[in-house]
Amino acid sequence: MLRLLIGGLVSVMVLSACSRDEYNPAHDYFSFANNDQFVTRHLELELWVDFDRQTLAGSAALHMERLDPAATIIVLDSRGLEIGDIGVAAEGSKVKPVTFEVGQTDPVKGEAIRIQLPAGFKHESAFLLKIEYQTGPDASALMWLPPELTAGGKHPFMFTQSQAIHARSWVPLQDTPAVRMSFDAIIHTPPDLMALMSADNDPLAPRSGEYHFSMPQPIPSYLLALAVGNVWFQSFGEDTGVYAEPEVLPAAAWEFTDTQAMLDAAEGLYGPYQWGRYDLLILPPSFPYGGMENPRLSFITPTVLAGDRSLVSLVAHELAHSWSGNLVSNATWRDIWLNEGTTSYLESRLMEVLYGRERADEERLLSYQGLLEKLQTVETEMQALAPVFQFGDPDIGQDGLEYSKGQLMLETLEAAFGRDKFDEYLARYFEHFEFQAITSEQFLDFIDARLLQKYPGRYSRAQIAQWLYQPGIPDGVVAPTSSSLEQAVAMAAAWSSGELAVAELPVENWSPKAMVAFINALRADLSEQQLKELDQSLRLSTTGNVEIARAWFIQVATRRYRPAYGEMSAFLKRYGRTWLIKPVYAALVSNGEDSTLALAIFDKARAVYHPITVAAISSLSWSSGQ
Ligand SMILES: [Zn+2]
Repeated sequence: MLRLLIGGLVSVMVLSACSRDEYNPAHDYFSFANNDQFVTRHLELELWVDFDRQTLAGSAALHMERLDPAATIIVLDSRGLEIGDIGVAAEGSKVKPVTFEVGQTDPVKGEAIRIQLPAGFKHESAFLLKIEYQTGPDASALMWLPPELTAGGKHPFMFTQSQAIHARSWVPLQDTPAVRMSFDAIIHTPPDLMALMSADNDPLAPRSGEYHFSMPQPIPSYLLALAVGNVWFQSFGEDTGVYAEPEVLPAAAWEFTDTQAMLDAAEGLYGPYQWGRYDLLILPPSFPYGGMENPRLSFITPTVLAGDRSLVSLVAHELAHSWSGNLVSNATWRDIWLNEGTTSYLESRLMEVLYGRERADEERLLSYQGLLEKLQTVETEMQALAPVFQFGDPDIGQDGLEYSKGQLMLETLEAAFGRDKFDEYLARYFEHFEFQAITSEQFLDFIDARLLQKYPGRYSRAQIAQWLYQPGIPDGVVAPTSSSLEQAVAMAAAWSSGELAVAELPVENWSPKAMVAFINALRADLSEQQLKELDQSLRLSTTGNVEIARAWFIQVATRRYRPAYGEMSAFLKRYGRTWLIKPVYAALVSNGEDSTLALAIFDKARAVYHPITVAAISSLSWSSGQ
């Protein structure tokens, strides 16, 4: 904990000392790979999944191309991998051993593997690099769950989370979004368990313990994904379906039944879906994120199984990544807004097509309010959409500001050019840059040529540059509005001041978002009696909707409403989704009284959390509340 806190302070100091002039925006400062000299085109994986030892072991064969004829040392990324033999071969010939060394561990980047090509290899421009290895004991991408932490309780479960820079903890490779590769894989599992990858999954594959995969489209390493467990499949339609444990499958199939319609809507707006099938995989509650857009198979948290389809915007988001992010990727982690900001914009457009303007506007306004909050906490240097990002950790980065700020910029552009022209531009953008990774500067040049100059006088290059390179929000931006949320906020004020009784609140007409807005707008000086009345009437502490629970428990912790501490503690121990639990921990730590309690809950709960979640919670300023 202390190490992470100090690391954060150091990175802030170094950041402010680093100028944009010296910064190379096309360089990935979070990878050791020399991908300007060598580049991977295809990966062949063969791995044995060992639940007892909690390791993946086998080999990775990288089909590489030498871009620089003079280069003789290949540098790959690793994080704690135990490397066996490494060999190289010209295409079609026998593998010959080579010498290599593994560098010192960097706390964020892991280790560089430096591989010396043999002298006789001078003229080979394409070759195979084969690495025997196994994962280390603390592989940051891997979550190993004993049966008792699964829905069924009988079989173990494992899954990967490669974004941002964790692929290197389970495969030695060039771990940068700038490199795209196709892959084939053979995965060996205990019998009866199913393996799935971000590839061509076959729901009818016999449960033999050996699974073959192929991913013909080139992907960046952060989209490499594997899950193994007792999962089964149900179809939604021609191209879509869901995998889950059998105990969860019927609820998941009901909740996400609109997935095929979402896919059809997205294709109508942004051009053909380029990946073949689109399926969902519902993971156990310890999955660290809401969703992960692994191509062909989005990984989804079970916490959005609300029973009323009220949280399906998450699926719209992961599906939208099939265009923004997976098809057109960020060149480095500094350009992550191209991925997440664009996806947040697409998500709200899909929500509007499927569920209407009012629901989409509610989500837009909450995103905007989230942005205003982030601008209070994210350091100025990291508030530009395209910041100088050379140190620190890509998992923390801009703390999510890139989602809402990027979305707001694209909404502003849509308003300036009109929906038809902007949709047409976006479809061309995805087509032009498909299967590439781009920088913010490439985005700026493209939009300048294809939109700004085509319809002059509506929005300038300098105005877009302000979003990209300056903190805060530019002047003249029209904030989203939502009459239903504004009404809920007004009701919060009226109830807080005693003008309105709880029974008079029209909660049956409220969406879950309206309830969240109501909770967020409660006056700061409420008495314990008022909180108790609210909790008992609206059943906030026992709600099955995790977004309402999250908003409520942040208030519970901030206000030290102790009667709900039992339910709050159970909530923190039930889920490992960082977005749900980190702000509740943060509120406990910063209320001045409960750091010790928060630490005690964290110590008990961390067995349920993925390593990424553990790191995120550990990075809180634990000392400030003591
Ligand atoms: Zn996303």
